[in-house]
Amino acid sequence: PAVPVGSILRAAVRRWGDRTAFVDHDVPLTYTELGARAHAVANWLADHGVGRGDVVAVHIPNCRQYPAVYYGVLLAGATFSPTNPLLPAADLAAQLTDAGARVLVTWDQVLPFVRSALAATPVQTVVVTGEAHTLDLDARLELEPEDVDLAELLAGDPGDRHLDADVDPAADLAHLAYTGGTTGVSKGVELPHRAVVTNVLQSACWSSGSVPDLDEAGDVTLRQVLGRDEYPTALGEGRLVNLTPWFHAMGAIGYLNGMVMAGTMTVVHMRFDPVRYVEDAARYAVTSIGGAPPVFVALLQVPGFLEGDWSGVRGVSSGAAPLPVTLIERLQQVLPNAVIGEGYGLTEVTMQATGNPVYRSGTRKPGTVGVPIFDTEISIQPLGGGAPLPPGERGEVCIRGPQVMRGYAHRPEATAEAIDPDGWFHTGDVGVLDEDGYLAIVDRTKDMLLYKGYNVFPRELEEVLFGVPGVAGAAVVGRPDEEAGELPVAYVVRKADDAGAALTAESVMAAVNDRVTPYKRLRDVVFIDAIPVSAAGKVLKRELAARERAAVT
Ligand code: ATP
Repeated sequence: PAVPVGSILRAAVRRWGDRTAFVDHDVPLTYTELGARAHAVANWLADHGVGRGDVVAVHIPNCRQYPAVYYGVLLAGATFSPTNPLLPAADLAAQLTDAGARVLVTWDQVLPFVRSALAATPVQTVVVTGEAHTLDLDARLELEPEDVDLAELLAGDPGDRHLDADVDPAADLAHLAYTGGTTGVSKGVELPHRAVVTNVLQSACWSSGSVPDLDEAGDVTLRQVLGRDEYPTALGEGRLVNLTPWFHAMGAIGYLNGMVMAGTMTVVHMRFDPVRYVEDAARYAVTSIGGAPPVFVALLQVPGFLEGDWSGVRGVSSGAAPLPVTLIERLQQVLPNAVIGEGYGLTEVTMQATGNPVYRSGTRKPGTVGVPIFDTEISIQPLGGGAPLPPGERGEVCIRGPQVMRGYAHRPEATAEAIDPDGWFHTGDVGVLDEDGYLAIVDRTKDMLLYKGYNVFPRELEEVLFGVPGVAGAAVVGRPDEEAGELPVAYVVRKADDAGAALTAESVMAAVNDRVTPYKRLRDVVFIDAIPVSAAGKVLKRELAARERAAVT
């Protein structure tokens, strides 16, 4: 039977107790302390009339306070709605209004800016935290009288009052998450408790070698967590320096919930700093590394990473964006004992839909994102609609499973377009299945270029670019052209070595164009210091494409 997300915390507190759950600026927080803080937050919210059906927006970067706020909101029966802490004020206001947020948890450093965005939103209560709380959860902030100090919520002694509101896991929303807006308008994704708990389990079991139980309804059950089973083998007693933002699906599901469930000790870094990461990864002897590919690209540029002894790293998980095959090879050289796994998913399927079965059959197929995880189906359908396509044919990736969202908030038309009457969610990604059921993501339909009527998939060119010596990063976009429609143009970041310095536009084009069909050839190369990426690790192609459009007009 489905259970609320709060059960993950309760089980973790019971099982892992005095183990360290999170470390921030060297200050540890045990599982028991995390549980007490979360229950204190839940009690405060309930005492202030916030519960089932209410939305609490959380606008803070990763910090030690975040997990207690997250579970507190859910234990109170309210809906957690994360925001990207870097959102511009107008976008923040739009999101808070769309979400119908009643309470906003925010950060003192951005408070003046946030305040300017609140006037036209439904937010009634602003709860503020700050750096001071990262070091000392009992420190008090100097605030305006109408604002609430998060420390007040966290300091409450829950005593015996361990609230876990009576939610309906199948119907009540645990998360109201917003799509990244990499390709278009950001939409609210409605995820009931059942979807979240199921995907946490699907994902954690997949990447740990455990076998989940399925109940009569086909749901993955919580037996591994609540019982005393072997779960989770690969992750248990692990140590991680967190690299994924918790406001994003991969962070919230795979890392916040996944690591709490596994009893892992997570070192919290507010933002990604490759040099600091490497220092802490060595100091805490991390056992696994997880993140989006741009993070790995950055780490491979840090001498301390290349020279370090990482024999204790057992697993690497990548997701959120394509992991080029050459990057896997480079990572494997530095991390000899790590099993490198890749997963694929979207906010609309909570987080994950497929994964390389590295802990199962052991057969990883580089260049693919693996096979559907438990209880999940994938089909490839023609882009314009129609019957599913056979293996080997490219089409739109469609997903069916318990982790698929209920729909987009207040957008019945967008929901009907995305989820068909048979329950298939249409992803907007182009993919192909092989005979063994492995999925390869070709590209996103929205990133596809049209050269003289031919489809060019930037990702194919990027894979080749990543193999060119001296190239540290690359992204391909279209340059508007009257005759051809769009010309493929590469943005390239040089490696900080001799091969990088020697690169010219001509040498890069020559290296790539010999290896691709003529209509896909690169027509120009632009060198750039860094490829723009979102906080979740996605290349912001629209920024590069906008540069190209601006240059033409
Ligand atoms: P928006 O959908 O608003 O543009 P977004 O892309 O940031 O925002 P997410 O839900 O975070 O939204 O991203 C989902 C997309 O990320 C997928 O549709 C897919 O294109 C890409 N993606 C995720 N994992 C992988 C992977 N392993 N390989 C290739 N692409 C991936």
